[in-house]
Amino acid sequence: MSIKIAVFSAKPYDKQYIAAALAAKKEDSSPATDGGPSDNPLDLVFHDFALGLDTVALARGAIAVCVFVNDVLNEAVLEALNKEGVRAVLLRCAGYNHVDLVAAERLGFFVANVPSYSPEAVAEFSVALLQTLNRHTHRAYNRVREGNFALDGLLGVTLHGKTVGVIGTGRIGLAAARIFKGYGCRILAYDPYKSDDFVKEDLGTYGELDDILPQCDFVSLYCPLTKDTHHLVNEHTLTKLKPGAMLINTSRGGLISTKAVIASLKSRHLGGVALDVYEGEGGLFYNDHSGDIIDDDELMRLMTFPNVLICGHQAFFTVEALTEIANVTLQNCTDYLLSHPCPNSLVRSHKLFVRRDSYPVRI
Ligand code: NAD
Repeated sequence: MSIKIAVFSAKPYDKQYIAAALAAKKEDSSPATDGGPSDNPLDLVFHDFALGLDTVALARGAIAVCVFVNDVLNEAVLEALNKEGVRAVLLRCAGYNHVDLVAAERLGFFVANVPSYSPEAVAEFSVALLQTLNRHTHRAYNRVREGNFALDGLLGVTLHGKTVGVIGTGRIGLAAARIFKGYGCRILAYDPYKSDDFVKEDLGTYGELDDILPQCDFVSLYCPLTKDTHHLVNEHTLTKLKPGAMLINTSRGGLISTKAVIASLKSRHLGGVALDVYEGEGGLFYNDHSGDIIDDDELMRLMTFPNVLICGHQAFFTVEALTEIANVTLQNCTDYLLSHPCPNSLVRSHKLFVRRDSYPVRI
């Protein structure tokens, strides 16, 4: 008998990498039966739209849903999934701010993420965004294609010797700090849980957020979205920033108050913003809306600033990361089906390892 898994927000590249991981797993598995997915073939049902209250019925008959960053897994959706007989949530991402882990725990769900598929992929992209914003490469690209080789308006600063604020020194923040160190930057970090590696590798100096912000030429966010970090960048923190400083966010949109950022850009205090994530991205990102009227006035205002650069949540998007995401998601699924300890389990009732970075909070 096959085991049905409903895969939401599944794009062609997701299908391709999950199929490759499945094929590799089949090749690896010995003829000896282990009761796992090779004995009970997985029936993956792909949906290219997101999971939400309106689509939850499509999970009927599935033992698990496999989801991404903009699928909705609040209490109401989890209740509905529970009624449909779904028992597990397999996240194809590291962040889990969109899952109500308290409700998941209460309903007995297994929930697992892919905590570290390629921190370097995200860190490298954040630095690429920072340098694009700083050196105006995106504007130069368009100009040159139109035969305009003038340099006016493309002036940047040399990164060497500049001060970069690294907010969050977990896996991605550490990888970014190593790159900034290579550029010859001075790194000031803020994290309520200091990293031994950051200190051992002499990557920079820790300080309190209010103390480091006025010293930074660039500030880049690498912390999860929790109830404590929601709108970490707000009217107050923005006034602390050095005038002309640039802000980079590859973590989660909710870390930044868009309203406050727009006000700071308008007052010419904030020198520029590069975003891979946006607090209203759900329902917009990962889909082509080029023929639509976009109703989000804050996003549209942001896009009118010459010193704002926005990408559609693509920092993770590398061959290596997609490969790892597919492999680890399948492994999490196998662990669940075989009741094996799963190192990536996020709910205590599915025991095992409760990680230091578990934040069972509601936003
Ligand atoms: P991680 O858990 O390894 O590190 C997060 C760090 O943030 C930890 O050291 C934690 O102590 C710290 N932190 C917690 N609260 C903080 C606060 N108030 N201020 C400062 N630091 C705080 O996570 P990671 O793998 O480095 O990922 C970080 C985030 O990046 C994820 O939560 C996810 O939201 C985001 N992410 C984005 C993409 C993308 O494609 N744009 C891809 C992967 C992850």
